Amino acid sequence: MSDSITQPRFGVDLGGTAIKLGRVEGEELVQRLEIDTPHEGEACLDAIATALRELAAGDPIASVGIGLPGVVDLERRCVIEAPNLEFLGGLPTADMLSERLGCPVLLENDANAAAFGEAQVGAGRGFSDFLFLTLGTGVGGGVILDGLPFHGPGGMAGEIGHITTGHDRQCGCGTIGCLEAIASARAMETLAAQELGRALSLEEMAKAARKGDKDALSVFRTSGIALGIALAQVALLLDLRIFLVGGGGAPTLDLLAPHALDQLEKRCFGRTASDFKLTQASLGNDAGIHGAARLS
Ligand SMILES: [Zn+2]
Repeated sequence: MSDSITQPRFGVDLGGTAIKLGRVEGEELVQRLEIDTPHEGEACLDAIATALRELAAGDPIASVGIGLPGVVDLERRCVIEAPNLEFLGGLPTADMLSERLGCPVLLENDANAAAFGEAQVGAGRGFSDFLFLTLGTGVGGGVILDGLPFHGPGGMAGEIGHITTGHDRQCGCGTIGCLEAIASARAMETLAAQELGRALSLEEMAKAARKGDKDALSVFRTSGIALGIALAQVALLLDLRIFLVGGGGAPTLDLLAPHALDQLEKRCFGRTASDFKLTQASLGNDAGIHGAARLS
């Protein structure tokens, strides 16, 4: 890493509505850009290349890392399937970008990239093994083992959002009972609308819960228990004890965590709640840029 102080690194986080790009020097994200995502392959890659050249400001771009949504095939260097960006499916994204920039392009699943960012310069620093999960529109996840993202043979490792937690709500993936269907930021708002009878943002609901509103507290209890059930399965399978939470729902972790930790203690024999660390990730929306930039 001796060159990291002088050599800028470039990271891209390609999302369904926005593309976030950054220039990293050492540990600092010194400049970032955000552009709307064009929903067509050539236009999307053109826009990314243009934005990266702007960030480089004439400096050489030695390599670029990019986080992509959906299932990423690292061998074929493309996304197999991206529900929110269908045009990406099968598109040789990394090679197309590499042609435009004349440098190597490394790719990674977006949640894995964010997890890697947290591992390198965020709340995961100092921990070699942990699960990073995002509570957003859905629930995403990335597993870090020995300091690196764990992919699995098909690139689908870390899909904690679709672990079944024993409730009867329908998930967008077609299954019933997924964590995502009860503990994503969106699912918690849906629960609130049903249980409180009025539409509240997650922030408003958290505010009400912290003032002691019983209905709001019950929503976080329901979602927190489901979160704990899912995390316990991960803990039992991989012996993970550290869970970092990002995404729009992360600021409500104080309301979810007691219930989740209670489940972890109940379900992971031989351990107590204090054996686990369930805390907010620290890089916010920039985790993906940080991680992507460090792929090279
Ligand atoms: Zn699902």
